[in-house]
Amino acid sequence: MRLETFIRKSLRMKAHTVVKVEDLPGGGLVAQVDRLPSRRLCCGECGRPAAKVAATRRPARRWQDLALRDQPLWLVYAPHRVWCSTCGLRVERIPWAEKWQRVTHALVRAVATLARKLDWASVAAHFRLNWKTVASVVEAVVLWGLAHRRWVPLHQVGIDEVSRRKGQQYLTLVYDLARGRVVWVGKDRDEATLQRFFAWLGWRRARAIQVVCCDMWRPYLAVLRAQVPHATVVFDRFHLTQHATAAVDIVRRHRWRQLAEAERPDFKRTRFLWLKNPENLARKERTRLSGLLRLNAPIVKAYLLKEDLRRFWAYRYSAWAAGPLRQWLWRASHSRLAPFQTLAQTIRTHQEGILAWTTLRVTNGALEGMNNKVKAISHRAFGFRTTWTYIANIYHCCAELPLP
Ligand SMILES: [Zn+2]
Repeated sequence: MRLETFIRKSLRMKAHTVVKVEDLPGGGLVAQVDRLPSRRLCCGECGRPAAKVAATRRPARRWQDLALRDQPLWLVYAPHRVWCSTCGLRVERIPWAEKWQRVTHALVRAVATLARKLDWASVAAHFRLNWKTVASVVEAVVLWGLAHRRWVPLHQVGIDEVSRRKGQQYLTLVYDLARGRVVWVGKDRDEATLQRFFAWLGWRRARAIQVVCCDMWRPYLAVLRAQVPHATVVFDRFHLTQHATAAVDIVRRHRWRQLAEAERPDFKRTRFLWLKNPENLARKERTRLSGLLRLNAPIVKAYLLKEDLRRFWAYRYSAWAAGPLRQWLWRASHSRLAPFQTLAQTIRTHQEGILAWTTLRVTNGALEGMNNKVKAISHRAFGFRTTWTYIANIYHCCAELPLP
């Protein structure tokens, strides 16, 4: 088969043909394309066969195609103008590429597939494309995918957030927990964001939602009650653990600051106190040790509270879990540790959603892998000029959208 015929067939040209293929001096191939006079051209606007081909042509354009072996391949063609019976004088439809794109459908598919695995700079280097071309290809593919994805009922929903630019900008992600993929991405992380999600979803689809898993720190509850009153809200174990860890850290830092001022000197030369067996300590030394333990009491207490809360997740019946949780709340609120008192307060107001976990066992933590993926995307986000570019990449890598 001649190279011209091969290119023509692989691009599935019907009304066009490859006239000749030339070598470029700097490497690469250029395929000169022309129309077949016997075939009808289509209108670029509506896609219907055009009645007549106008005498004037547009200037020649170049499209990059998949490389042949390691030779980059370009198509060159000067599009005709056609008379369409409905649209009037238009440029013909280019069958091998999208209207505004300078890469062929075949290359778009290849770029989009690789962009799910690699960062855009590497994809651009691999296909010898401009970084911006890769961005525009992914954006176009995502728009197509969003418009053409098949809807499957959403039963378990997880709501989480990611930050970008060191916490200056937040995105809310809505996951399909059953299938482990992103369903929706919105700017910011407030009530309005969630309202927008439900507006997009529509009440019919919202009816299928049975479980919503989210962070109790977010002001989502009011929106959820209004939009999906039938769904069970589960507070995410993953977040709760994070908040408990954060509380321990606040206690530790606070304690350290206090020590830095007054009692740090007491810590000097105390190594033997910790290592020696207590019964071998002299009375003076024993007093000193108990003094030190008292100094450290808050952090030990905080640590134990955190660990006990962690044990709570092992329960499988909410009736059994309720008792220990009540005890924990009592201990936390009497701990005289401000961060844990706040935590206890929040847990108490959301107890129902936390106990729901024992029977339902859904958590966004199961999607930790997905979260990490989204975060990895945000780390390589150096070049994302706009939030939309970033959102498009999240959809592209995590939403399993169909490819054109
Ligand atoms: Zn038309």
